[in-house]
Amino acid sequence: MAYSRDGAGLHRFTDTADGETYLALHAGLDNAQRVFAAFDQPDLKAAMTATVVAPDSWTVLGNGVARPAGPARPRGCLRWDLAATPPISSYLFTLVAGPYHSVRGEHRGIPFGLHSRRSLAGALDRDAAEILAVTRACFDRYLEIFAEPYPFDSYDQAFVPELEAGAVENPGCITFRDEFLFPYAVTQAERQTRGMVIAHEMAHMWFGDLVTMAWWDDVWLSESFATYMGFQVLSEATAFTGAWTDFALSRKPRGYDADQRTSTHPVAPGPQEVPDTDAARSAYDEISYAKGASVLRQLVAWTGWPAFITGINDYLARYRFASATLDDLLDCLARSSGADLREWAARWLRTPGVDTLTVPSSGAGILTHAGSRPHQVWLGVYDQVPGDAYGLVLRARIPVSVEADADQVTLPSAAADPPPALLLPNDGDFGYAKVRLDPRSWAALTSGLGRLPDPLSRAVAWNTVRDLVRDAELPAEDYLELAARHLLTETETVITGPVLGFARWTIADRYLPPPRREATLGDLAGLCHTLLRRAAGPDASGMRLTAARGVIDSASRPDEVAELRSWLQAGAVPGGPDLDSRLRWQIMLRLAVLGAVGQAEIEAEADRDTTATGQQSAARCRAALPGPGAKQAAWAEMFGPDQSRYLLAGIAEGFWPADQADLLADYVPRYFTALGDLAARGDPATARMLVRHGFPLHAVAPATLRAGEDCLTHAELPASLHRLLADQLDDLRRALQVRSGAA
Ligand SMILES: [Zn+2]
Repeated sequence: MAYSRDGAGLHRFTDTADGETYLALHAGLDNAQRVFAAFDQPDLKAAMTATVVAPDSWTVLGNGVARPAGPARPRGCLRWDLAATPPISSYLFTLVAGPYHSVRGEHRGIPFGLHSRRSLAGALDRDAAEILAVTRACFDRYLEIFAEPYPFDSYDQAFVPELEAGAVENPGCITFRDEFLFPYAVTQAERQTRGMVIAHEMAHMWFGDLVTMAWWDDVWLSESFATYMGFQVLSEATAFTGAWTDFALSRKPRGYDADQRTSTHPVAPGPQEVPDTDAARSAYDEISYAKGASVLRQLVAWTGWPAFITGINDYLARYRFASATLDDLLDCLARSSGADLREWAARWLRTPGVDTLTVPSSGAGILTHAGSRPHQVWLGVYDQVPGDAYGLVLRARIPVSVEADADQVTLPSAAADPPPALLLPNDGDFGYAKVRLDPRSWAALTSGLGRLPDPLSRAVAWNTVRDLVRDAELPAEDYLELAARHLLTETETVITGPVLGFARWTIADRYLPPPRREATLGDLAGLCHTLLRRAAGPDASGMRLTAARGVIDSASRPDEVAELRSWLQAGAVPGGPDLDSRLRWQIMLRLAVLGAVGQAEIEAEADRDTTATGQQSAARCRAALPGPGAKQAAWAEMFGPDQSRYLLAGIAEGFWPADQADLLADYVPRYFTALGDLAARGDPATARMLVRHGFPLHAVAPATLRAGEDCLTHAELPASLHRLLADQLDDLRRALQVRSGAA
């Protein structure tokens, strides 16, 4: 079988930095049959092994421990024998081979390995201690939680090039996209995300690998659990104690958004809804990850941790090295909790949608409920700090149980007497619901949001504001005003980053009418400058980095362009951070969008940074140049013959800056025609990538919507592509509604 360049099957990559070649096998969902003959179905499991012949300078890894077994032909090659695995599904089989750089160790008698391509060896070595510490701590915690021992013979974590997924849970040999190694400065939030992914993939050794869903309709059995356990175990076992705040702002909103699109579906849809692997691809969505994990967090709030984990251990013991369904899990949880979970599951797992919890007025003493799910949440009761108009202090968090069909709940008197300044439903974020505040609470929140003591409360508050904007109940400008006021005191980059990101890319580019965009970018750049000025001291490097990135992304005026140029020249942002390859490319991209650099400067930068990431960044910058020639060339590549999907993603991401709306006007209708053609040519994977990374997000206009709907109706799109495009059009429809509200 041929090697692939698109990440499916046995992917082959040659490093532009040093000419070395690396292979990594990605067998999911149904690509095992691109490598060996297989009945490619998750409930069919077998012991797997392999013999690999590779150049003798290479390292070979697989699910079972790989051992060199002597010279092999052709000359200069070595044969490797891989130990047989316990029974596993074909989609979890992997091989990793190449001149990998390795850091090896052992923990509790299990060989642990970290691996990267040679050009990233420095980045791996620098962080190996941190990665291994997180790995060991999570491993120990899982062994405490689960009665089943670790099921495989080794634990390798290979950072491989051009992986399409973030990471893949191959038993004993996890593959990560090698963007999780950082040859540049990152924030604590980004390190935490890497830690979370390590914990997530490790959870899969039990959820997904030891016990596997019988069919793809139960993807959530794998992904919701791994997502939930990943955040939970990371926050319990490592120094990343704020992981749930990150979940609240970076992950959970994607679940709420997905659940409000027309394509939403139950967390557990049932086999008839997922007839084939193309449909299964769509099941790997934010309903399965973000909503599913939120629902599990809500389940634990309901049953309590001990009953939950007893049921889980029963489930793992009964179905070890086999497969299971939703019903199997519910039976185990029902036995352990003594509760009938059928009704709960019917509401939470078998029906889609988001409920809303509202405090109608601070004196009424009730919480109203729109929807059909039972909720177990906390109500945060806050008082004004005496003598401080903006300060808020927590009086109590009151547990509130909402019956599935109840329209309202009476609150205990502690929530009303004396009258509090702010009542915050879902404080602590154990629930999954929209939240609406009474006028008095809203006033307290707008003046005191940034002063809420617990970062999780602030995250719930920011989600509420975001949600009001998306539902056109609050002018988009108000979000910007709140950001300008409350980010000044924010200490957590996991909050500052997502709030700035929503303001920049959703509000400025999509929700505000174009004439207001320029002033908004000026305001955002001003805010980020202020954040940069205020962030000082040894703990401020993450906030300075976040602020500097914000300055770069919003720069538009000539003085701001001159400032970015001066940073490039100096090699640093005054006062830090120093410019590394990532910041340099981010500046180059913004300057390219604005037409402040040309082809020659991009090529010079690409000569400086010959890594694969550098080449991708250069492609993104070229596509972002505002000349008609640059656009034509980028377009030809996007819809041209096959090439690395990573490069293509870069080009697609650079093509449509909102700053170039006039130049791009003709390309918008052409985009939809070209997508249909691409699907007809039998390349839906590239078409999916171009919808994910190359959709004209800025073109918020009825004509764009009509062209998109026309494509949905008339082009013959496979289900997974149809779904992605329909989702983009849903978001566009919402942006149009928000804009008409603004008008
Ligand atoms: Zn996963």
